[in-house]
Amino acid sequence: MNRRRLVWKVAPVYLSVTLLAVAALGWLSVHDMRGFFLRQTREDLELRARLVADELPETFPHIGADTLLKLCIEKGRAMRSRITIVALDGRVLGDSDADPRYMENHSDHPEVQAALAGQLSFDLRYSATVHQNMMYLAMPVRRGNVMAGVVRTSMPLTVFEYTLHSLLWRIILGAILVAALSTIVTLILSRRLSRPIVELVRGAERYARGEFAEKLPVPDTRELASLAETLNRMAAELDAKIRELTAQRNEQEAILGSMREGVIAVNMQERILFLNRMVGDLFTVDITRAKNRLLQECIRSSDLQRYLGEMLEGGEEPAPREIAFSAQDNRILQISGSFLRDADNKLLGALIVLNDMTQLRQLEGLRREFVANVSHELKTPVTTIKGFIETLREGAINDAEHAPEFLERIAQNADRLNSLLDDLLSLSRIEQETDRAEIALLPESVPDIVKSAIEAISAKAKEKRILIRFNADEEIRAMANPSLLEQAVLNLLDNAVKYSEAGKLVEIRVERDGKNAAVRVKDYGCGIAAEHLPRLFERFYRVDKARSRKQGGTGLGLAIVKHIAKAHDGEVAVESRINEGSTFSILIPAII
Ligand code: ADP
Repeated sequence: MNRRRLVWKVAPVYLSVTLLAVAALGWLSVHDMRGFFLRQTREDLELRARLVADELPETFPHIGADTLLKLCIEKGRAMRSRITIVALDGRVLGDSDADPRYMENHSDHPEVQAALAGQLSFDLRYSATVHQNMMYLAMPVRRGNVMAGVVRTSMPLTVFEYTLHSLLWRIILGAILVAALSTIVTLILSRRLSRPIVELVRGAERYARGEFAEKLPVPDTRELASLAETLNRMAAELDAKIRELTAQRNEQEAILGSMREGVIAVNMQERILFLNRMVGDLFTVDITRAKNRLLQECIRSSDLQRYLGEMLEGGEEPAPREIAFSAQDNRILQISGSFLRDADNKLLGALIVLNDMTQLRQLEGLRREFVANVSHELKTPVTTIKGFIETLREGAINDAEHAPEFLERIAQNADRLNSLLDDLLSLSRIEQETDRAEIALLPESVPDIVKSAIEAISAKAKEKRILIRFNADEEIRAMANPSLLEQAVLNLLDNAVKYSEAGKLVEIRVERDGKNAAVRVKDYGCGIAAEHLPRLFERFYRVDKARSRKQGGTGLGLAIVKHIAKAHDGEVAVESRINEGSTFSILIPAII
């Protein structure tokens, strides 16, 4: 749309009105002035004509031409006007300004014609005799009831015309001046008018951009002031509303964002309306850029696509389904969908909630594996015991040479069963107590606890001629459960002794490691290949099954160490090189 500035709308109107007013005023005054002047001149001419007529002798028109001429010239000079005396037949008998002998017949002059007909009459016209615009007045002269002739007085209009012209010019000049003045005034006025409007517009634009901090200035014009106040009120309300909506949206986003479940909202065209942070993490998607994009562009999962397709096309909410998402560490996700509807129950799209089942399924797998492992571990000694009992029953009991050995093997396997059950029980106890936060931790001296463990292993070490060298920063204290920590250290020492050859050295150190207290058990035994290290602390994980069994190991020792460290809010670590030895460490937060 062709929009003009306010000034261009106001100024022409203002200017035209002013000019029109000046023109009307000018026209009126010129018109009035002309009327007044003509009237005045006519009365003047009439008066003079009457005076001349009165001077004419009773014998008129029967008087000498010289007498008439003289009269005309005398009166004309005295009255400063032209005087002409015309006979009934139109002939000029006398004239103050010209010689009547050379003058045309005046019977066809309109004023003379009217006077001859008995009427006082006047006319305005250009005179060919004196070459000027003139006003003529003709008066009939009667003698008794009979028309005797006509006295005509006339006056040039030059002065009057000159006055009128100069008045007209003055009016035009005045009009130009008034127009210029009024233009300036209009400009100033419209500028004064539009300045607050421009400010209001700028303010309104700020509001439109969502900047509500700076209020609109309130102009001193009543209408504009009320507009500014209304706009300010509207902005304040808008600001409050936007803040409220933003707070609500932030709240919603915080709730949806902190959900453990992934949330995807799509419209009917499968374009993304919303993704929460969990979905972003699961599928490594930038959730801030996902809005309005197609779901398959952001998340490449044919199973998810199919599920959504079935839902949107089928018009039914399908049962939750588990899908494997291989692009991300083989994750298992449970997806369940429901329809998104607005307040009027109109279908907007679909909402899909994703549950990461990976850990649960892994735990289930671990549990199954654990049960299978436990059964297997228990089965071996039980089968062995049953075998020997069977052999004894079948007569070997009377075989004095072999029977004691069989019994010894039965006892060994029973011990093995016992230690297996002991380890299982303590593992499950530690796990349960850790879960329930039941393990009492008190400030304890770590070296003292380690010393007890060394004492407990000393007999076994001596048997294998293994020297245990102990080195400790005696000051180190930690929040600990002494019996559990002792058991963990004992397990490490037991392994170090078990997996070292006779006569080797085992070193144990208690030292500070940053904020932690570290207990490090170093041996120079068989060592462990790097590929085993990541799984070493799993239950029943053994590098060399036969060797472990032979040593009476249950495969649970390191798992117990790990759980004890966890119960102390700590961790375990291992460094090892095959055939060179290993260093196992327990790290728990030290008391500073
Ligand atoms: P085990 O009862 O079999 O010793 P652990 O859980 O204590 O069970 O240890 C798991 C496995 O780690 C052991 O079977 C063994 O192969 C390996 N291992 C543990 N400690 C050592 C060590 N100090 N030196 C070499 N191998 C070790």
